[in-house]
Amino acid sequence: MSGDTAKRELPAEKLTRVERHLSEANLSPRWLREDDLQRQYPDSDVVAGWRIVLDDDHEVDVLLGPDYPYRRAQIGVAPLRQDIPRSRVFVNSTLCLLKGNEGHSLNDDERVLDDLLSRTRALLEGEGEDYAARNAEEIVDYWKGSRSSRSIVSICEVNAAAREVFYSNDLPFTLIGDTREDVERWVRQYSNSTNPTVKHSVLLSANIEFPVKMSNGRALYEWFQEKHPDQMTLVESLAAGDPISAPVLIGITDAAGGGALLGAWVRRPEKQKVGQPKGLGTPGFRKGKAPGHVAAPYFFSPESAIENVRVDRADVAWLVDRGGDGSNSAIRSARIVLIGCGSLGSTLARLLVKAGASNLTLIDPDLLTWGNIARHELGGRYVGRSKAKALAETIRRDFPNVTIGAQFEPWQVTYERDPGVLLDADIVVSTTGEAADEIQLSDAAIATANFPSLLFAWLEPFAAAARVLALNEGDGCLRCGCDEFGVFRHSITDWNGPTHRFEPGCSTSWQPYSEIEALPAKAFVARVILDLLAAKPVRSRLWSWLGPEHVRTAHGGTLRKEWVEVHGEPPTSGGIYEDEWRTCPACAEPAA
Ligand SMILES: [Zn+2]
Repeated sequence: MSGDTAKRELPAEKLTRVERHLSEANLSPRWLREDDLQRQYPDSDVVAGWRIVLDDDHEVDVLLGPDYPYRRAQIGVAPLRQDIPRSRVFVNSTLCLLKGNEGHSLNDDERVLDDLLSRTRALLEGEGEDYAARNAEEIVDYWKGSRSSRSIVSICEVNAAAREVFYSNDLPFTLIGDTREDVERWVRQYSNSTNPTVKHSVLLSANIEFPVKMSNGRALYEWFQEKHPDQMTLVESLAAGDPISAPVLIGITDAAGGGALLGAWVRRPEKQKVGQPKGLGTPGFRKGKAPGHVAAPYFFSPESAIENVRVDRADVAWLVDRGGDGSNSAIRSARIVLIGCGSLGSTLARLLVKAGASNLTLIDPDLLTWGNIARHELGGRYVGRSKAKALAETIRRDFPNVTIGAQFEPWQVTYERDPGVLLDADIVVSTTGEAADEIQLSDAAIATANFPSLLFAWLEPFAAAARVLALNEGDGCLRCGCDEFGVFRHSITDWNGPTHRFEPGCSTSWQPYSEIEALPAKAFVARVILDLLAAKPVRSRLWSWLGPEHVRTAHGGTLRKEWVEVHGEPPTSGGIYEDEWRTCPACAEPAA
């Protein structure tokens, strides 16, 4: 086997059909040879192409890839001499004709081709060079088109204010954030680097008049001097201390989608003027000492370079808006304590972070074993490590915006040493499934004024149901819902045989269930937590998720008679139930 993949081709009849269509449209198609295609479109996956006469002034190329017509044709502009808006040309010399989310018909490839060609005509004839300057998205497209340099990742809040920002080059990309602390923390979490180097940069504010192309640092300087003199102190500050180069962010406030960020590196000239030793920066100042307004003419000189770089947003709003719940500030700011980092707890931690939660503490005294990993968020590489610490480490690295602590000990130890870990939380969630532990926690909550919302979550055998008991201060407890052995009295399901299995030679047991059945149950628990954080309820509640009937019958389970009497016969697909958890005065009366 050689490493080369076989060259894929299009069937001859497909090519004949496209060529006939181009001929019938009087475009005089001329077949392009393979070596021509490779020379003119080296970056493209093009397997066939024709040069066509679009009109008196323009010839363009119709290019087909191996997956045509599932992937539409590209319009290549290699033969064009005249200036066309650069923002409309991809790096590989093809035209940008479709918006990102615009589909094309998969039923009629000839109509798609006609449409692409008419868009090409409109672009080339109807609109002149000022087309791009009038359209903010064009600017953004062009500025992000460069792939010459390492990209910028921005964690700056996106707003209109021009301001000082900070950057670090300690990662494989340049990280820019609003404060020195933000940048340091993010770099530390992402890379375990202990002492990141952080430097000064600026975020400038502009609008869609911002030029599509800038040739050097002086052009940038003069544009702001003319359009935004109020930002000149900021612009000049970039030159302070004579940096060799510095990144700059430019916010386009009126771009589509609520603003866009452009990024560039400004690099001082390679060679200084005669009599000015290279690398010494501003004449008359010791290295690194020149103030911005004095150094600016040297830094932003006509010989300086501007290098566009791609900016990727990683600010919290951008990350969690995609998760759907993150725009809710109650979720984003909530302090969540998770007691138990097993199968349920580890998935909850990740789901909550993906939904926008950004402040978690994980508590668990156990080490990860091979027996855990089929139902745990952590895999084999973490076996033998603290579940809490290893899980926190992966989340910190995957979501560097999140603040996450880990205690490798029972919650009782944490609580005795530092009660604030629990008491200062907005919600404490226990998923240990250890009856004695959880009743002890429930008792502690009752005995303590202003204990936060306390939530117990567990799965019934085989993940046939999920239960979430949410207790608010003084309004019910877990003890009243259990018999004297700590068995919950209000289960939904009943089982004929044993539902636990035991490891040989020791007292460790587990409840068998498949992660596939458990995933919707886990998601339900996460949903209840998010709802509670978004709108804190006054009364205590018991939420229940009942899985489909086949999960019960496969393992010899039935619905408990008392539960059906209250809730009725559920649909075979299962359902969701919410019950009041009645107050137990002085914790003596049975609840629910
Ligand atoms: Zn009680």
